[in-house]
Parts: sequence; C-alpha cells; structure tokens
Amino acid sequence: MTALVLVIEDNEANLELMTYLLGAFGYATEVARDGLSGLERLRRGGIDLVLCDIQLPGLDGLALLGEARRTAEGRGIPLLAVTAFAQAGDRERLLAAGFDGYVSKPIEPETFVDRIADFLPPALRAGAR
Ligand code: MN
Repeated sequence: MTALVLVIEDNEANLELMTYLLGAFGYATEVARDGLSGLERLRRGGIDLVLCDIQLPGLDGLALLGEARRTAEGRGIPLLAVTAFAQAGDRERLLAAGFDGYVSKPIEPETFVDRIADFLPPALRAGAR
C-alpha cells in the first residue's frame, strides 16, 4: 500500500504537476487550494505526508505547520514545504520552523517523487524506482 499524499497548493499548474507525478508513480493524492481546507483535511486523518506551499490564501504554510503540529493527525507525519523561495536562508528558516524537508519550485519532474519517497517509511513507498 502506497502513501496518501495531501498536496496544499494554490497555483493550479504546480498542483496539477505534483499530483500528476505522484499519481504516475503510484501514490494516492488529495488536494487543497488554501491553508484552512488543507488543515481541515489533515485533521480528518489518513494522510501519510503533506506537501505544503508557503504562500497560500488565508492560512499560510507556516501558520498551517504550527496548527498541524498541534493536532494528533499532523504531529507524526512528514510535512514538506514546497516553495519558490530560492535563497539559502529561507530553507534553514523553514526547517527551523519545523518542516521536515523542502522541495523547491520549479518542480523537477525527474527528482520530485524520489525526494518525497525519502520521507516515507519503506512500506509506504511506491515500488520500483
Ligand atoms: Mn502559493
């Protein structure tokens, strides 16, 4: 059984690319287009990993991270920031804030799914690759 990945992203093109790539490699996905809906979906349970844009309408990625870590459903799973912030300091800032990892935009199709898999227990990784 592969992981269920929640993708929280308000940019439609990025959202489509990430869900397409994840789906093509065998992962199930659910999507949210703003922080509050993402948090609500996370709280309902069943999510194995979250990919979270930082600049989101309403509740932004950092606020969502804080809220997510206060819930039982969000405490023990990998939360990865997905952001175009390119400067080295931003990465450290996001990790210091409590994100488990960081995926930079533009999404690189060749490496994106492998990078996600690194944060999943082997039993939840998509096979072959
Ligand atoms: Mn955004």
